[in-house]
Amino acid sequence: MTLFKKPHPVLIFDFGNVVAYFDYQKACDVLGRPFGLSGADLLERARTRNYVAILQQYERGALTAEEFSERFCTLVGLDLSHQEFAAAWSDIFWLNEPIARLVEYLKQQGYRLVLGSNTNALHAAQFQNQFAETLAHFDHLVLSHEIGHLKPSAEFYLACASVAGEAPATCLFIDDLAENVDGAKAAGLSALHFTEFPTLLNDLRAAGIDVPSIPASKPA
Ligand SMILES: [Mg+2]
Repeated sequence: MTLFKKPHPVLIFDFGNVVAYFDYQKACDVLGRPFGLSGADLLERARTRNYVAILQQYERGALTAEEFSERFCTLVGLDLSHQEFAAAWSDIFWLNEPIARLVEYLKQQGYRLVLGSNTNALHAAQFQNQFAETLAHFDHLVLSHEIGHLKPSAEFYLACASVAGEAPATCLFIDDLAENVDGAKAAGLSALHFTEFPTLLNDLRAAGIDVPSIPASKPA
């Protein structure tokens, strides 16, 4: 791990399961209900029919929201309007509060913050609204569907460094998926694998970033 000297490195946070958690089963519970399908059964059906392939097209910006909803509903056999699909599909997130407090602290300390997310137009619209207060601390949002590249491709990480105006070596990427951490390192960035909040604080300190003891739960 690089020990960063001043000036501060650019800190790049993944969104899903870092800044906020998500669960596709929440969407599938709502989508399947009119058809007598449990969320777990619908999600399993989507997985076995490889919905990830069309999701990746959507998250690369190669499909519109309407095209994605039509393809997804056809794939899993749901007869829904785009509006019905979009409302359920979007509502899958809840904030990771300790990370939200860390982000606010780092911004106050003068760190430049970038959000680097594999996402899509429906989810990005949802989370930018739902978590506006936390996301306001980020200097830039790099969203896969807008740049046309997904993690773990090098182009994604280089876009994050570029938008911050820094060399990759001056950037530290934080992601919950090991393959995305490896991708960041392969592109020349430093990277941390996010698992649990206390571990992340220790990993940040080891990288030379002074973070206080931020409680995992909100102080009373
Ligand atoms: Mg993630």
